[in-house]
Amino acid sequence: MAPDLGRLAALIDGWVSLAALLSYRDLQQDQRPPWASLSHGAAGNAYALWYVATRQDRPDAWKAAGRWWRFAVRGADRRSGFRSAAYRGIPLRASVAFGRPGLQVVEALLSHPKPIASRRALTTLGAIFDQAGEVPAEFMVGLAGELTAALQIARCTGSDEMAAVADRLGDRLLAAASIPIPIPINGFAHGRVGVQHALLSWCEQTRRVPPAALVAALVAPTDDEIISHAGTLPGSWCNGLAGFLMLWVKAYELTRDDAWRTRAVACARTLATLPSVDGTLCCGDGGRAYALLALARIDDREDWRGQALAACTQRLAEIPAHGVLRGLPGIVCLAVDLITPGRARFPLVEA
Ligand SMILES: [Zn+2]
Repeated sequence: MAPDLGRLAALIDGWVSLAALLSYRDLQQDQRPPWASLSHGAAGNAYALWYVATRQDRPDAWKAAGRWWRFAVRGADRRSGFRSAAYRGIPLRASVAFGRPGLQVVEALLSHPKPIASRRALTTLGAIFDQAGEVPAEFMVGLAGELTAALQIARCTGSDEMAAVADRLGDRLLAAASIPIPIPINGFAHGRVGVQHALLSWCEQTRRVPPAALVAALVAPTDDEIISHAGTLPGSWCNGLAGFLMLWVKAYELTRDDAWRTRAVACARTLATLPSVDGTLCCGDGGRAYALLALARIDDREDWRGQALAACTQRLAEIPAHGVLRGLPGIVCLAVDLITPGRARFPLVEA
């Protein structure tokens, strides 16, 4: 094994062993709330342990995943489970990343080997995703995040019930996506990019031809335009170029129009010139690495995988200990994808 890959294998082993020992109280001492969510807390730890368990066939990770899921459920009864000052006024009712639906997503994945528990978890999650009322279109707190999660669970469990839920979410999101979203919030997490990526993923998984209006709406801003709207996070998945790069890759995979691949490669070259902000999947090098792994699926003219490996191994020591989008568990998933053969899937983001 190459030295960097050996380092990642040690990271996975060390983190799984540590996660088996730590408790919710340790999490509370390590960082500020929210403590239960997929993005920042205990449910994210459970998700990453499930990811290691299924990709590397590890019973120790399965056991620790169940333990962290139970911590998340207990923590969810308190306001500190999902809320912090940063989310004041933001509706989390439909948020897989930040809210209670994320716990149900983890339960649906963890319970899959047990038929009765799995059926119950899928029915409960389906009811959450089908709930009436106005839900934003965006990825982080809305329909695009729900659709992506439903597609992942349908794929992982083979559930026809969840596939039907995904179809209803897809139809709702298609209707919502026709409402223009203001340009300044154009990125993946809160803007049009995440909505389009979720809809294209739905078309890909269900073998639908992408609607002409969806393809026509895939206008590509220039790298400079994206950077000027991304504030302090120009290279990020959440608001910057890495999120757009994932969309251009998906657009190529669905349309086979070479213009999208050319656009994706140019975007990756600009990405390499931007400074690192942190190591996380959401805002930092981890998200960039997953975007480069996506590009490696459609282009082999440069060593995108090698660049992803280099990005992943920077700044490991600075990353918060918990949660999948904002913490080290997300980088553990990335490490698994870099050393285990098979298709890499950005946690929560790629179905
Ligand atoms: Zn971010």
